[in-house]
Amino acid sequence: MKTLVFATQNKHKIEEINHVLNMKIFQEQTRQWNIIGLAEISCFEDIPETSDTLEGNALQKAKYVLDNYGHDCFADDTGFEIDSLGGKPGIYSARYAGPQRNFDDNIHKVLEELKGNDNRKARFRTIIALLLDSKQYFFEGLVEGRVIHEKCGTGGFGYDPVFVPDGYNKTFAEMSLDEKNQISHRALAVKKLIDFLKNY
Ligand code: IMP
Repeated sequence: MKTLVFATQNKHKIEEINHVLNMKIFQEQTRQWNIIGLAEISCFEDIPETSDTLEGNALQKAKYVLDNYGHDCFADDTGFEIDSLGGKPGIYSARYAGPQRNFDDNIHKVLEELKGNDNRKARFRTIIALLLDSKQYFFEGLVEGRVIHEKCGTGGFGYDPVFVPDGYNKTFAEMSLDEKNQISHRALAVKKLIDFLKNY
């Protein structure tokens, strides 16, 4: 049994990832891995994220845990990329409207910037960086879609209430966790990670 730390303090992500890990189809594959959170290694400080790319931030977080706590680790970083805003909010997704990191404020800012703009194309992109046995690996998950004009739904978090994935006519916030996990950026990246671990 090998222990891996998932370097996040975001309870929504832990919930989503545990959900994927516990899906029947993956149980067989993850049997030899013990995935634990930051709380279980008594890491409660804010881990720095100062890179200008998702890859850089994910790697920085994983390295921090390895360097300071000595555990093999994976970390993720996600950006919401809107084409007509030149890929913004991107790496600034969490604090787009300011350091208060407020989901409603961020959505409001995006909707204001998109006012009168017909090109609403956007995507969520997740990068997972894994540090394992002194090597580094990256896994990417993408979901394409569009930003609608006003918030719909109460589930999920972040930009979920204004994002409708391609092929659907409801937002991530109107989906069950199960439904979102079939197609979400993070779930796709996690599935790639699990596939890798299965064959490791
Ligand atoms: P993080 O760096 O991976 O924590 O993600 C940065 C920000 O992107 C979050 O604070 C959210 O605003 C947004 N975000 C990440 N994942 C999701 C998601 O699944 N739905 C909606 N917003 C998300």
